[in-house]
Amino acid sequence: MTHDPLPPLRDVIAQYGLRARKSLGQNFLLDLNLTGRIARSAGTLDNCTVVEVGPGPGGLTRALLHHGARNIVAVEKDERCLAALGDIAAAYPGRLRVFEGDALDFELADIAQQPIKLVANLPYNVATPLLIKWLTPDQWPPLWESLTLMFQKEVAERITAPPGGKAYGRLAVLTQWRCDAHMLFDIDPRAFTPAPKVTSTIVQITPRAAPRAEAELGDLQTVAAAAFGQRRKMLRRSLTTLGVDTGQLLEIAGLPPTGRAEEIDIEGFCALARAYHLLRNMR
Ligand code: SAM
Repeated sequence: MTHDPLPPLRDVIAQYGLRARKSLGQNFLLDLNLTGRIARSAGTLDNCTVVEVGPGPGGLTRALLHHGARNIVAVEKDERCLAALGDIAAAYPGRLRVFEGDALDFELADIAQQPIKLVANLPYNVATPLLIKWLTPDQWPPLWESLTLMFQKEVAERITAPPGGKAYGRLAVLTQWRCDAHMLFDIDPRAFTPAPKVTSTIVQITPRAAPRAEAELGDLQTVAAAAFGQRRKMLRRSLTTLGVDTGQLLEIAGLPPTGRAEEIDIEGFCALARAYHLLRNMR
């Protein structure tokens, strides 16, 4: 059964010999209920450019088209998938453009017009670098209005973690500083071909109207890297790598020297980033 005039995905995979490659993080989602659910999670699709990374044989792409996407830009690294994607583009004239290459090398501004929604079953091997790229553009607010992305569950937990637990770290601080992030639902490994070892989770990320607190991106990344680099140590020890007076730094930031990284909320990290900015400019 398919929702469109195209052959079932299993036939497409057989026709084009798309044997999944681990090196490309290829786990294909063939269940139409799940691809449809992911597409619906992204909200209205007919009034924006949908950017999809890693369409593979096109399961999610077809669901996005079926759920109303009029303009999809897809970036796929595996040239073996291009013919199958070409068939989809032909079945939906003018609604799908495919770029071949590594998504890390593409700038959204060069391939898509605003408003932009990113929707993707990300390849595990580049999921975190891609997220960081989309969270740290030169300009904020970003070009995208939402990210609806699949990650390994453990990564999804690190993106959405509140302070106080093991999952809370640099990724949570970077994401939640300027965005709201929620886990939407899990996908069982058995839904994929081949089945990965771990559960996957769909995460939705939207930019906040204002950041949780003022800070400069570079300073925030530097202090979070220092603090979480030695997360079990007290801040007065872990932050020595910053090369400023740690006691003074924590005093200006209003944070306890005996605190540990995972106890500091995002506002606290922003205070630390501002204090670091001040002290490094006095050096
Ligand atoms: N969207 C398909 C689905 O849902 O069944 C495939 C998802 S699969 C998890 C990840 C896809 O990303 C594969 O098609 C793979 O070839 C592609 N890919 C891997 N690394 C990539 C990269 N750096 N840039 C673009 N695509 C990449």
